[in-house]
Amino acid sequence: MSIVSLKDVTKSYPSATAKGELIHAIDNVSLDIEKGEVFGIIGYSGAGKSTLVRLINALEPVSSGQVIVDGTDITRLSEGELRKLRLEIGMIFQQFNLFSSKTVAKNVAYPLAIAGVPKSERKKRVAELLDFVGLGDKGRNYPDQLSGGQKQRVGIARALATNPRILLADEATSALDPETTHEVLGLLDRVNRELGITIVVITHEMDVIQSIASRVAVMEKGRIIEQGDVFDVFSDPQHSASRRFVSTVVKGIPDAVEVATLRERHAGRIVTLSFRDGNRSQSEVFVELSRAGVGFELVYGGINDIRGRAFGHLTLALTGEDAAIDDALKRIETTVEVVEAA
Ligand code: ADP
Repeated sequence: MSIVSLKDVTKSYPSATAKGELIHAIDNVSLDIEKGEVFGIIGYSGAGKSTLVRLINALEPVSSGQVIVDGTDITRLSEGELRKLRLEIGMIFQQFNLFSSKTVAKNVAYPLAIAGVPKSERKKRVAELLDFVGLGDKGRNYPDQLSGGQKQRVGIARALATNPRILLADEATSALDPETTHEVLGLLDRVNRELGITIVVITHEMDVIQSIASRVAVMEKGRIIEQGDVFDVFSDPQHSASRRFVSTVVKGIPDAVEVATLRERHAGRIVTLSFRDGNRSQSEVFVELSRAGVGFELVYGGINDIRGRAFGHLTLALTGEDAAIDDALKRIETTVEVVEAA
């Protein structure tokens, strides 16, 4: 069941440079985010990701279309109803957005104070939240005394304070080093699994999607150009922008420079085979090549694991009669994706 559903949503702004023209920051986007999942939205800077977030938590009105959160069309709500809705949606940010003059405990308590939760209850809840994010002993510290990863943990504790059903993470790990990113993503995974909170992860980093999301939408110029299961998009991207993102994390596909090096080092035709689980096994490919009298040398490769499912790429240098190679590749191609280097 969808917890967030966008139907034909467009958001336009007046262009800063061309008078009278509009920029479609979001251009006719439809999207369904399922209750309880971690949904990734990836795109380069300017793709429209932050605008999409502001539409989901109703910080800005849509130009046209519907945004349905938990069954309610939020484009029709009054300001008072929107305030209530925002309690259902927690948010964390790249720069953490903590109050530097307030202690960690006061930062986490802030949304509770706004919501009118009595002081004694607030204290108990803050202690629970800080324990959950592993900062039980930091309540009296100020944000400046914490590392980046700890600050983001405070951000997460604060976002969870009002028991939201949805957590929006806008480039939440982009200011962190890889080690700390890993820790924070681990915490978000717990938020999702242990608390059942739906998480929407906005990022320009494909490894973030790889480690936490189950489904992903790829955005470009205000549109969703591809969406699906993370495994499917990673193992078989359909759009050139998706392929560029995937190539930043997927192991085993030689780039143009590497292909040139392979050519220098190896005789024969350079062919990359892509295997997904359920594909015919590599050994069958080798049997096919041997049967056709084609010589093969394994020259490049890698296996990727996405949440327990594997896919991989093997690059072979093939030698022998061209006709025999073509024939073997044609048979192999019926089950395995084959790309010959130009
Ligand atoms: P991203 O988060 O993917 O970097 P944004 O949502 O910030 O992308 O921006 C998408 C496009 O919309 C950009 O061209 C940006 O300049 C434009 N845009 C975003 N917000 C505004 C605004 N408030 N006024 C005018 N243009 C905006």
